[in-house]
Amino acid sequence: MLNYTALLTRLMGDIAARVPPLSFIDMADVLVFARLGRTWASGPLATCHCLTLPPSERGYYFWRDRASGAITRRSAPFVMKSPEVTIAGRPVKYLISVALPRFCDQSLAHSRKARFYRRAEDLWIAKLDTVVHELYHIAPNWDGIRRIERGDGTFLAEYHGGRFLEEVAEMVGVYLDSKPDPLTYGFLRHTFDTLETGFGGIVGTSFRPFPCYPQRYRETVHDLEDEDLPDIKVERSPCCRKVRFTDRDLVLRRFLSDTTQSANGPVAFSTDDAFVTWVSGSPALQEAHPQRADAPARRAEDVAR
Ligand SMILES: [Zn+2]
Repeated sequence: MLNYTALLTRLMGDIAARVPPLSFIDMADVLVFARLGRTWASGPLATCHCLTLPPSERGYYFWRDRASGAITRRSAPFVMKSPEVTIAGRPVKYLISVALPRFCDQSLAHSRKARFYRRAEDLWIAKLDTVVHELYHIAPNWDGIRRIERGDGTFLAEYHGGRFLEEVAEMVGVYLDSKPDPLTYGFLRHTFDTLETGFGGIVGTSFRPFPCYPQRYRETVHDLEDEDLPDIKVERSPCCRKVRFTDRDLVLRRFLSDTTQSANGPVAFSTDDAFVTWVSGSPALQEAHPQRADAPARRAEDVAR
């Protein structure tokens, strides 16, 4: 059985070592984890999540009466904060999630990046392109999703603007031209079916309880006395999202075509372990998860489709 997130982590480290624009990336600052994404359903292939964004400005939610439009209540003031993820005692700066098994079954056909690749036999290169794409979203100064600069020093609003997709394809070429060990990227040649039949399937690092994972969260702050706020009812609903994660929150899960499977409790493993012997839980531990709605791209994260 293959540890797909461990293989991706190793591949990303090799790419960073061989592709100059990505050489600033130390994979000790990046954690790759897996989410369920069914092949037949639409949704992201992978997502880059930034954990280094500072807290947002304070804000409120307001509720209006549907008929009159009058403000009837408001939330307590809050700021949006990034969760903390600490692995082996070191804070993680970015997460890259992959949707399994959908990621394994992507191809260049009908994708926006197909025009940058000419060799029809290299359909698996769509996966390598997605890996480079997510790494390229990491900002060189680690302060969010990379922004695309115009020639005049201002930035494009779109994170895939300018030559972003073309530059990703160029970096894929630089990587392959550097003659990397085929064992480092060879797993990308397999579809989910051939990974199942040839290797006994795939597992990946996930957060527990599945399918939860670290996301920006709302933290209530105190009202300021000089704020000019309407005298209306204040809704106080504390955020119950988990905000700190460590190694103890990571588990290996097996990803099947339509579901995932966990072991009973956490599994001792290293992300360097590319091959694992799976000791699964009982069939009763299999869980079906509904397809999550696609979230719009935000500054804290960006997705590849
Ligand atoms: Zn993207």
